[in-house]
Amino acid sequence: MAETDFDVIVIGAGPGGYVAAIRAAQLGLRTACVESRETLGGTCLNVGCIPSKALLHASELFEEANHGTLAKWGVKTTGVELDLPTMHATRDEAVKGLTQGVAFLFKKNKIEWLKGHARFTGKDAIEIGGTAYRAKNFVIATGSSVTPLPGVEIDQERIVDSTGALALPKVPGHMVVIGGGVIGLELGSVWRRLGAKVTVVEFLDQILPGMDGDVRKEANKIFRKQGFEFRLSTKVTKAERKGESVVLTMEPAAGPSTGSGQAETIEADVVLVSIGRRPNTEGLGLDAAGIQLNKRGQIEVDHNFRTGVPGIWAIGDVTPGPMLAHKAEDEGIAVAENIAGLTGIVNHNVIPSVVYTMPEIAGVGLTEEEAKAHGEVRIGRFPMMANSRAKTNREPDGFVKVIADAKSDRVLGVWMIASVAGTMIAQAAQAMEFGATSEDIAYTCHAHPTHSEAVKEAAMAVRGLPIHI
Ligand code: FAD
Ligand code: NAD
Repeated sequence: MAETDFDVIVIGAGPGGYVAAIRAAQLGLRTACVESRETLGGTCLNVGCIPSKALLHASELFEEANHGTLAKWGVKTTGVELDLPTMHATRDEAVKGLTQGVAFLFKKNKIEWLKGHARFTGKDAIEIGGTAYRAKNFVIATGSSVTPLPGVEIDQERIVDSTGALALPKVPGHMVVIGGGVIGLELGSVWRRLGAKVTVVEFLDQILPGMDGDVRKEANKIFRKQGFEFRLSTKVTKAERKGESVVLTMEPAAGPSTGSGQAETIEADVVLVSIGRRPNTEGLGLDAAGIQLNKRGQIEVDHNFRTGVPGIWAIGDVTPGPMLAHKAEDEGIAVAENIAGLTGIVNHNVIPSVVYTMPEIAGVGLTEEEAKAHGEVRIGRFPMMANSRAKTNREPDGFVKVIADAKSDRVLGVWMIASVAGTMIAQAAQAMEFGATSEDIAYTCHAHPTHSEAVKEAAMAVRGLPIHI
């Protein structure tokens, strides 16, 4: 007989799990949430979204002061110095405030935090540190961890993953980033701004896979202008510690004997491994629950987030789809509503993604390449250079691109590079959620002067009628 009984036990207190637990409790369900970390909030709040954004913000301020951006505005600074321990302390403060905030919300909503690692012992029971718990429903929200790279062993000192890269005690002279995806570019930006030379080694022939082709090309150009070095179509086969540095062996992605180059070595002070993340399912006892994984190690779910086993649901990074906090959160709300007998829905076609570099890179919906594969499209582009606010703020890099169906004019995707693209993309997502046409956006009044006017102009450009170019 179980010692504790709940309507719902959520496993994992990341943005998926903690949000699911709060919504379940709001809907009157007796709810517990299991978390093995010392603090709530999962990867995102502890070692992901929040600490990385704290360092991105801080390093941007440092670069603005150090490289003359502030001076251009008549804000003179002398003797600019980096105080890295204070930067890290302020990052920690942000994490502490937000993770404690989740603990407060758990108390407020009377959610029991079951501390420890959960393991299924059957279809309706788990065990945590020797104690058994039964529930009518389980939500698996165990998230993801860094994908290891064979031959490159992470020691969190010289060869680090994102968690190590958030806490480096010293600015490296040369940082080699393996993987030109979101983490590599965000954390590479942090350390480049603070003084490191950053080389990104990317397996594919372009950075930021999955994003719109124009955006990938333009982002590459902008990052190179900032000082990033890219080694595309290249793979790292080995990393060896040599005293205080690391020697990396690289070769063409297609292999050294393909005629596209030979194996070579480079030296780095710090190597960041950021080649993707994989679902956390080890030690979860999924066999006992009768749950099988797909080929990518993920838990498959239906549209309602049900696994194949009645009463067991799954959301967030452990399931297929983009590994994003807001996707996990929306799924958390929907799964709780479904468990409560309501209709919880997530529109997976309209999940925005943002890279928080400077400028930011954002997109929602189909890329141009994907849209063209579905049928005829019309595309409107507008450069940030022609946007009055961006120009005034001396932020000329980037553009907005609206992709619409040629016949219906319905917006299929919006992509952009702009200093505040992460904020601007929200209106595009909302428009798409409401089934907007490019004409709807073009005839919506946008406040002046704002970066968002570039979205309106790109929508006008779909019919070839932008005003300011
Ligand atoms: P997680 O946040 O990974 O939480 C899962 C939790 O479950 C963990 O706390 C883990 O300890 C716990 N757990 C696992 N197994 C068990 C078990 N058996 N028992 C008990 N507890 C368990 N996404 C964005 O949208 N925006 C960003 O800016 C962003 N920045 C990121 C920066 C970095 C450096 C990283 C690494 C990720 C970033 N992400 C970002 C991705 C985002 O963090 C994830 O998509 C999100 O955290 C997934 O939420 P989740 O709830 O599925 O899982
Ligand atoms: P990613 O999938 O974004 O990028 C990994 C990159 O590594 C890809 O470009 C891939 O081609 C490359 N790669 C893979 N194997 C390689 C190899 N052997 N050698 C060289 N390159 C290789 O993964 P990530 O950057 O590690 O991020 C993990 C997840 O975290 C992502 O899914 C992302 O959505 C999430 N995240 C999101 C944000 C955000 O929303 N701003 C920030 C950080 C992380």
